[in-house]
Formats: sequence, structure tokens, C-alpha cells
Amino acid sequence: MKEVRIESGIGCIVFLIVAIFTFGLFVGAVTWESVLESPDYYEVEMNVSAYCTCAKCCGEFADGYTASGKLAEGLIIAAPPKYPFGTIMDVPGYGVAVVEDRGGAIKGNKLDILFPSHQAALNWGRKHLMVKIYKKGK
Ligand SMILES: [Zn+2]
Repeated sequence: MKEVRIESGIGCIVFLIVAIFTFGLFVGAVTWESVLESPDYYEVEMNVSAYCTCAKCCGEFADGYTASGKLAEGLIIAAPPKYPFGTIMDVPGYGVAVVEDRGGAIKGNKLDILFPSHQAALNWGRKHLMVKIYKKGK
């Protein structure tokens, strides 16, 4: 009888370890941190300029929505079509943001980053930065 109890105890511990490991993998797969800690990115020198949703920045068709159909608020990047919507980028001095917008003048290694006001966009101006681009679908 003693041996049976020891075996079931070991079974419990193995189950716990497997459960914790599985849970850790699940949580790790969905957190931002796992994306950021991943070495699965490359850096590109980008010409980063700023914009807001006003008519000066977006023309007469400015409607407050991104090209991907999202409300233009928070941290949003407008990138050339070679970077699909949903691509995660880390722009130094701006933050980690997602590509959700396009623009007629956004070609080559050029990005536009969204600011909440025209003045804030003017304050950023234009910068040459090493931008981290995270590969999607990992
Ligand atoms: Zn503006």
C-alpha cells in the first residue's frame, strides 16, 4: 500500500510540471514580452516622419481612420506596402507600434508615425532611426 501512495505522488508532481510548462508556453505565446524578447527581428535604417489625422497631414480625405480600417489613435505606423498590416515595429523614441496605415508618399525606407495633434507631429519632425522590424507569424 505504501508503494502505491508514492507512485501516485510522483504522478501528481509530473502532472503539475507538465501543466505548468504547458501554461507557460500558452502565456508566453500571447504576451507582448515574448514578441519583444524574441530575436526574430531585423533592423532597418528608416526615414521616420510624423503625421496626425488633420487635413494638412492626410489631405481632404482625412476621416480619422487608417488604411486598414482602424480608428487612428494611439501608436500607429504608416509604412510602404512591403510591410503588411499587423507588422510590429519598434521605433526609438516613439515605441512599439503596429503598421495600420499607408500613404502616397510613403515609399522605400520611409515611415510615418501617428501623433495625437498636428503640433506634436511638428515637434517630432523627421528623423533617421534604426527601426526594429519584428517578423510576423512566429
Ligand atoms: Zn496634421
